[in-house]
Amino acid sequence: MALRRMVKTALAAGLRWTGASSVIETINATKHIPLVIGYHSVVEDIRMHQGRAIQPNLVSCRMLERQLDWLGQHFRFLTLDELGERFESGDPFNEPLAAITFDDGYAGVYHHALPLLQRKGIPAGIFVVTETLGRHYLHVYDKLFLLLARVLPMIDHNAERLTTLCESHDVPLARQHGLKDVIKDPFDTMRLLFTTLTQKQLRRAIEALETVVQIRDEDFPALHSLTWDMVRALDRAGMTIGSHTQTHALLTLENPKRMANQIVGSLLTLQEKLGKPVSHFAYPDGRFNPSVVSCVAEAGYRFGYTTCLHRDVRYPSLTIPRKILWENSSLDPFEGFSNILMHCHAHWIFDLFHRCQQDHSDRQGSGQSSTPRHKKPERVSPVTSSLI
Ligand SMILES: [Zn+2]
Ligand SMILES: [Zn+2]
Repeated sequence: MALRRMVKTALAAGLRWTGASSVIETINATKHIPLVIGYHSVVEDIRMHQGRAIQPNLVSCRMLERQLDWLGQHFRFLTLDELGERFESGDPFNEPLAAITFDDGYAGVYHHALPLLQRKGIPAGIFVVTETLGRHYLHVYDKLFLLLARVLPMIDHNAERLTTLCESHDVPLARQHGLKDVIKDPFDTMRLLFTTLTQKQLRRAIEALETVVQIRDEDFPALHSLTWDMVRALDRAGMTIGSHTQTHALLTLENPKRMANQIVGSLLTLQEKLGKPVSHFAYPDGRFNPSVVSCVAEAGYRFGYTTCLHRDVRYPSLTIPRKILWENSSLDPFEGFSNILMHCHAHWIFDLFHRCQQDHSDRQGSGQSSTPRHKKPERVSPVTSSLI
């Protein structure tokens, strides 16, 4: 980890000294990309959550404040509605603008981020998973990670044994390529399963793992979701509430009916509970393809947020790029806060070397069995390539 950070910091410094970053900044400026930042869970002290949460989902209050301060020195913050208006007006983004968002609806956003945002006068968008609100159970990916962290050492990190265990619950793990390559690491194994199985299959995989070891959802309060009262309080405080589906299903993997339920159902619930229109949607794990974007458009959302630079040319306002940050994003090898790393994240410089690996075409998942109900379903891959 320290070596990786050292390489990253050296790379960032090198890019700055050679002037390459300013070239890229210029390219970005001409492409008019406002900076939308995505966070997940906010915790008081990150050390308390070692082994008890997915680390890249966490940011501590202290680090969040440092990153927000840096962003505030270089960008003007907007609400998501203001940002959306700018997108729809077609006016160029000729000044550095930024918006802050939080995904997944963790209660820590209310307890820890809201006081900080209010103190600094920074608006934010909160993307919630409607069926988890007010319930003390864990998101599917959190539960899967926590179970794998316990089960993998018990089965000697053996891919065959995990495959047999999952197949006993009708989860077709044998078809997952690369399990052997990731089986040593519970996070990597979770990612492989999470990005290749439908949510129904993931729930069965969890049941299979629970035959080996049990964990109680109530023992992980930091991973619990907001209550509806908290969501309403965030709304009253001027934060923008958006949808992140009903159950955080990866929409590109679900069939058209489930995909539509996730997109439309969460919208209806949010509008009813908040008593106002909801316009913003964040794709779980940033996964989208033309069928998914069409469904989001038909549901009536006006703005959609991804986690990469790819856009759907038909609906650019429904594929707004976001940069995901967490605790370690701006840490140098000596655990200090790095202005240079923040600079590189804010200007997408690392994305030149780590391009998005997602297949945004309709070739996979929901697109395969897409019905003609979507606008122009016959059109193949209308998604543009990366903006840089
Ligand atoms: Zn999410
Ligand atoms: Zn992409």
